[in-house]
Formats: sequence, structure tokens, C-alpha cells
Amino acid sequence: MALKVCKFGGTSMADGHTMTKVKNIVLSDPDRRYVVVSAPGKRFSGDIKVTDLLYKCYSELMEHGDCKLAFAAVRKRFEGIVRELGLDFDMASVLDKTEARIDSERSEEFTASRGEYLAAVVMAQLLGAQFIDAEDVIFFDENGAFEDKKSYAAIAAATEGVKLAVIPGFYGRGADGKIKTFSRGGSDISGAIVARAVGASVYENWTDVSGFLACDPRIVDSPKRIKSLSYKELRELSYMGANVLHSESIFPVRKANIPILIKNTFRPEDEGTSILPIAQYKPSGNIVTGIAGKKNFTVIFIEKSHMNSEVGFVRKVLSVLERYGVSVEHIPSGIDTMSVVVESDSLDNFKLEQILESIKAEVEPDFMRVSENIALIATVGHGMSSSVGTSARLFKALADAGVNVKMIDQGSSELNIIVAVKNEDMEKCIAAIYREFFGN
Ligand code: ADP
Ligand code: ASP
Ligand code: MG
Repeated sequence: MALKVCKFGGTSMADGHTMTKVKNIVLSDPDRRYVVVSAPGKRFSGDIKVTDLLYKCYSELMEHGDCKLAFAAVRKRFEGIVRELGLDFDMASVLDKTEARIDSERSEEFTASRGEYLAAVVMAQLLGAQFIDAEDVIFFDENGAFEDKKSYAAIAAATEGVKLAVIPGFYGRGADGKIKTFSRGGSDISGAIVARAVGASVYENWTDVSGFLACDPRIVDSPKRIKSLSYKELRELSYMGANVLHSESIFPVRKANIPILIKNTFRPEDEGTSILPIAQYKPSGNIVTGIAGKKNFTVIFIEKSHMNSEVGFVRKVLSVLERYGVSVEHIPSGIDTMSVVVESDSLDNFKLEQILESIKAEVEPDFMRVSENIALIATVGHGMSSSVGTSARLFKALADAGVNVKMIDQGSSELNIIVAVKNEDMEKCIAAIYREFFGN
């Protein structure tokens, strides 16, 4: 029998009305047996996500010794949901215990994880399902890395013979016994982990859009839906800013060839997007599959004559960044030039100064320049490598739109072309590439 794991995101869990939609989706298919949930998200624009309210609780706790004020908003959200759903259980005491544990644990990650915990408690009540706490089945090692084998075994054991269960996303337990969260948007990873552990036939990821779109719908109005994506294309697009799915969520499912299906909770009849291993993936026929962009990078440009023949040049530059604990995103290079692209958040002014000094001392460049406030835009698709003139079309489109391209990197996977532009040009750049390859 097919076995489906479904993950519902923040908008799907926002209030009683949306949770009822979740309930109907889950109960309409007996194969949907394991449900992973996010914390309630925004109900309207300007609303605050429960996870953000909880980060506020932690700040208040640090400043004032308790978080009564900020937690009152969390309490109100959940009491409202339980009332709206007409559930008859003692949510007040669950909330009291949660507040007390936030007070005693005094941990940011513990506090942040409570949105998923409380949402899963409510969803389990609503579905008449078993609640399985992520802290008992998802584990991290002493370096904070996800412990796959131990977690898969614990999830398999906890779900054995269980017809319907709800598991909170976003967190697990660290080697020190304390709660640890994934990065933001990490419930997508939890869903993938559960899918892998129970050997699901599909990992359904239910969100508020009808699939993975060719670009961010907040930049281009109603972009085309991508019917099917390969794991590799997904990885490139989500890493580069298409945050409809967390970029780490493919790792657990990829090894077991479990397809991911992105679906819309608010239009469940829409087909959605399938994310498949390359062997099962059917190319769309489009040259470009999708476009995504991310802001706030810093580019260090280095020029030196005969750089290419100087053995160890690149290693020396990279070893400086390694010493300062800065990870490198891209290294486009020419005969006498190389650029190093890093996330601006990983640097402060002092660190940047020191890095530049060290590079100067290490390789004695002829010239160095730093560009800040840079956005990277990835144009991704398996069809690009076999199609002549793709980059020419892309650059002509950008020139016609008046976008100044600061750097180009054709990824070695032949799956993407990355361009760097000023932060403020990112939206214009994505819209121009979209128009060129998808029309209108
Ligand atoms: P959830 O709370 O369900 O996890 P997210 O907010 O994390 O949902 O992700 C869904 C949102 O991702 C969409 O509402 C959309 O605004 C945004 N998004 C960005 N890029 C894309 C894209 N290429 N396709 C679809 N949605 C995208
Ligand atoms: N609630 C968490 C966040 O806001 C995790 C998630 O939604 O996936 O980042
Ligand atoms: Mg998300």
C-alpha cells in the first residue's frame, strides 16, 4: 500500500479555518498517515508568525527574567485556534506547562520550537491522531549535525503500527539533551526525514501556492508553474532563494528516490509540482526551468598577471577565508583574475579588512576591489547545456532591461548560469530573464 507523509506549512496552520482544510486533506486519503506541521504562520499581511512571536519571548526572557507579555500573544493565538475548532481538551494547561518550561530552559532554540510543538498537539487532537514528539525521534550529534541512522530508527519504531500520527517540524534533540532547531523554514527538512524513515511512497509538501513556480510570485505576477523538477534543479533553485522548499530537504529523500510533491492547501485539486530523481524526471521542453535570486553578497575581486601559472594561488586565497571561518559561495575566474563571492552576513567590517590584508600578504595581487550589496541570480535548467545561445539570450535580455551585470558564473554542473547584480536590480533582473524565457 502507498504510504504518504504530508507536511503542512505555516499558512496552512494559521488558524482554525485553515487547520480544518488540513484535516479534510489528511482524512480524504487513508494513505496519508504521518503528518508533520509548522507553527501557525501569518493570517494576513502584517500579521506575525508564531515562531517570530516566540523569538520575541526569548528576548523578553533575557531582558526581564520572564516572557509573560510576549507569551500572552502566543497563548491568545492558540486559545483562539482551539476555540474556533471547538476542541474539548485542556489547552490552557498545555500552554501553562510550555511557558513554565520556557522559563526554566532559558534556551532560544527551545523557545522557538514551541510553535511547532503546540501546533502538533492541536492537530493531533483535531485528527484524533497520535502525537509523536520530535524531541524523542529526531537527533543531532555533538557538532549539531543531524544524526540520520539513529533518527530514522527511532521514527520507524515510534510509527510502527500507528495508523495516523502528527509530528512537530523544525526541531529535535541535541547530544546534550537540549532542544535544537533546524534553520528557518526547517519543517520542510523534518517532513523529508520522516518520509525517509517510514519509507514513504511520496513526500507531500502542502503550502500556499500551487507548486514550484518558475520564479518568485512576489516578483513576477502569476509565474508559470513548473510541472516537474529534478532533485538537482530543486537544490539549485531553493539554495538560491526559492524558499518555497528548504534547500536541505532533498537530502533525506534523494537517497531513497522518494518523490516530493508540492501542493496547495487552499486549492488541493491543483496538480502541483513533482520533484523527482533524474531517471524519472520528464523534461518540460523548456530551456530554462526556473529562476531564483538572493541578496546581500560581497565579492572580492583579485587581479594578478600570470595568476593562472602561479601554482597554489587559489588555494592561498581560499585558505585565508578558511582561517577566518568564512565559507565561499562562488569562485569565478579568468586568466589573470579571480573573484570570491561570500555572504555579507558572514563578514563584518573588521573581518573584511583583516581578510583583505591577509590576501595581500599571501599572494601580492596587482589589484583588489570589493563590491558589497550584491545579489546573485541563478537561471536553472537541464535544457540549458544542450541549447546553443542561451547565455546570449540571457545577457541581451538583461542589457535591454538596463541591468548592469557585475559578474557571471556558469556553474560547473552546466545546470545554471549565475549573474551578480546590485541588490536593488535583483527584481528587475529576474523579471527580465523570466520574460525572455517564458514570455510576457
Ligand atoms: P510554508 O509556510 O507553507 O512553508 P513558505 O512561505 O515557506 O510556505 O513558502 C511558500 C512561499 O514561497 C510562497 O507563498 C511564495 O511567496 C514563496 N516563493 C518564493 N519563490 C517561489 C517559487 N519559485 N515558487 C513558489 N513559491 C515561491
Ligand atoms: N516555524 C519555523 C519558521 O518559521 C519553521 C518552519 O516554518 O518551517 O522558520
Ligand atoms: Mg516553508
